Amino acid sequence: MELKGLHHVTAVTGSAQANVDFYMQVLGLRLVKRTVNQDDVSAYHLFYGDETGSAGTEITFFEWAHMPPNVPGPRSVVRTSLRVPSVDSLAWWADWLSDHQVNHGGITEFAERKQIVFTDPEGQALALVDDGGKEGGTPWAASPVPAQHAIRGLDSVNLAVHQLDPTAHVLTEVMGLRKVGVFPAPLNPEEQVHVYETAEGGAGTRVHVIEQEGRPAGRLGHGGVHHVAFRTPNGEEQIDWMNRLRGAGLQATDPIDRFYFRSVYFREPGGILYEIATDGPGFATDEDAAHLGESLALPPFLEPHRARIEAGLNPIELPVRA
Ligand code: ZN
Repeated sequence: MELKGLHHVTAVTGSAQANVDFYMQVLGLRLVKRTVNQDDVSAYHLFYGDETGSAGTEITFFEWAHMPPNVPGPRSVVRTSLRVPSVDSLAWWADWLSDHQVNHGGITEFAERKQIVFTDPEGQALALVDDGGKEGGTPWAASPVPAQHAIRGLDSVNLAVHQLDPTAHVLTEVMGLRKVGVFPAPLNPEEQVHVYETAEGGAGTRVHVIEQEGRPAGRLGHGGVHHVAFRTPNGEEQIDWMNRLRGAGLQATDPIDRFYFRSVYFREPGGILYEIATDGPGFATDEDAAHLGESLALPPFLEPHRARIEAGLNPIELPVRA
């Protein structure tokens, strides 16, 4: 039994409209689902991904306008990296980000791969990484970004923790990741980044861990990450994972039906919320694949409350394509 890599990263935005504008028009991702946080239906849950929002391509956002800005630090995800297929693509992105007034660090290198580090307008820490054209992810045909340069999906997450060992133990001994190596941090060479990947490796399978002893813990807000989800192929293996996590002393939830996938959550010892999510059934279960994300989708148990839920949400306008 092996985790197949990253499934999605869920972050926090203070403005759904500004979030849609940036992730669709600048990053060129498809809004594959516009729904609500099932545990807080006053908040949008927006999912961006490739053409179909396949597992491993998704970055998602809760809109929590009342939250303060995120404070990065230990016990949090401090950067999310996305895959592009080549160094030529990175050069194209450097110009594109500059043209869209996005602050970025130009092309740099980390762990023997080229990347561009940047932030979204709320300070969400992101990077684009040349993954050498690995398989996985189908660019959205209507994206403003040319298909040959399009973001293919998630590459890696960067976690900051107070102590490496407990987090590393869960990654390697419980979740089956293996250590790739240790590299100097790109923005602070005095810090070491410990790189892990899921057993088979490949696209979107890496977790980077930075030990920041003695530093104040991060605080979640706009521009921060709420949790990281890993892929499991089906509900049977998910139950096995739940039992394995509990056997290792971790407090894993029962599987929760998120309608587009099923989720088991647990907090790893470094303080970061993990999820193990099934690959299916996917985003075309309740919408025509040609019209994903164009209107508010609700799981069946919330459908009777649609009028009240819609009244509590600000409308979102999708960018108009020429
Ligand atoms: Zn999730």
